[in-house]
Amino acid sequence: MGARRLCSSRFLSTSASASTSARARLLRSRLAEEAPSPQDFVAGSPRPVVADHSAGRSDHSAVRAAAELRRQHGVPAAEASTSVDPALSDRFSRRHTYLRISLTERCSLRCVYCMPEGGVDLTPDSRLLRTEEMMRIASLLVDAGVNKIRLTGGEPTVRRDLPEIVSSLNELRPRGLRQIALTSNGIALPRMLPTLVLNGLDRLNVSLDTLDRARFVQIARRDGLARVLEAIDLALELGLTPLKLNCVVMAGINDDELLAFAELSRARPIDVRFIEYMPFDGNKWKHESMVSLEEMLLRLREAHPELSKQPSPPNDVAVSWKLPDSAGSVSFIASMTQPFCSGCNRLRLTADGSLKVCLFGSREVSLRDAMREGATDAELLELVGGALQRKHAAHAGMHQIAATKNRPMTTIGG
Ligand code: SAM
Ligand code: SF4
Repeated sequence: MGARRLCSSRFLSTSASASTSARARLLRSRLAEEAPSPQDFVAGSPRPVVADHSAGRSDHSAVRAAAELRRQHGVPAAEASTSVDPALSDRFSRRHTYLRISLTERCSLRCVYCMPEGGVDLTPDSRLLRTEEMMRIASLLVDAGVNKIRLTGGEPTVRRDLPEIVSSLNELRPRGLRQIALTSNGIALPRMLPTLVLNGLDRLNVSLDTLDRARFVQIARRDGLARVLEAIDLALELGLTPLKLNCVVMAGINDDELLAFAELSRARPIDVRFIEYMPFDGNKWKHESMVSLEEMLLRLREAHPELSKQPSPPNDVAVSWKLPDSAGSVSFIASMTQPFCSGCNRLRLTADGSLKVCLFGSREVSLRDAMREGATDAELLELVGGALQRKHAAHAGMHQIAATKNRPMTTIGG
């Protein structure tokens, strides 16, 4: 089964052996030999790289070195406080410093919990945000205090210009951007990941709901497990740690794999994140299909009574636990049964340019229309501030959400 392929020992030796400083020296010397200049990769000196690294993937030392240097010199913790424009605060004093950008509504898979089998009605190209419009919003919000941007979708890797987008975002680091993250289904990452890391990507979430190939085909309605596992191995090799694995748990479909997934966190720095199944338009959600955090935790603790709770960083949506002596962790995202609205710091920009201040809210503001009607930056920021002033303290609860019209998840950007 796939899990065995995933547990390759070559990465254990790279991550656990040499001391950090010795490793950094080694990486620096390799970088000096193999890549242009360390300054090309750290904050303030972005250097767009669009090379295709699909050939000769065996030696990624320069890419690892670039990521390591960025971590050491240019990427303080995303949680550190920065000055934030009052427009990004809401009535409940939540400061919205995390922007999630959906780059596309398209996807290479058709996961049952996310998309109808036939896909979704796609927005005509003319109504999608152009790259320069998306960058205008990103720059404006970074100047206002956003310090973390996640690229998502649909599947962001279907965008051919993803490496250039990451590169352009990397140029925002001197203005306050501290972290560029990606959520992906992993299918295209064996080909794209080294370039993305060279261009500035620092964090990755890969979605994976099963370790069984036939079941993968059932859930994603496409084949692809081997490629996702390859992407996970590569991400760890490139130093994208802790690597987050998103697993949507569905009763009677994959909930018998909880323990197998938890095992993935033992040997390598993987944070396995079990997500409660959420209702969105077109996904036929039923309460009975959802496995609650409480139930998942009960099952894991039955098998591992020594499971210990970890402190949560501020604004983190996940509650984290750890198996003894494990390199990674096991987390739960319980948006349905234990919502984390009080710490929500997220803004969402959809591929068609709408701002959503709540994943489950149907209210949107079209920044695309405002831009195309000639809005100034100050006017755009005012629109963002206005939307945040209308943001509720918490979402309406799972049954209400299930009965409320919202977009399909793939057009919101998870
Ligand atoms: N295509 C990318 C991927 O799958 O990682 C990015 C977009 S996807 C919409 C983002 C995340 O949303 C994925 O981790 C996916 O598992 C999660 N997701 C989608 N539909 C969901 C649902 N109904 N309930 C819970 N999580 C869901
Ligand atoms: Fe595509 Fe991600 Fe939705 Fe699956 S979860 S259909 S990979 S957008």
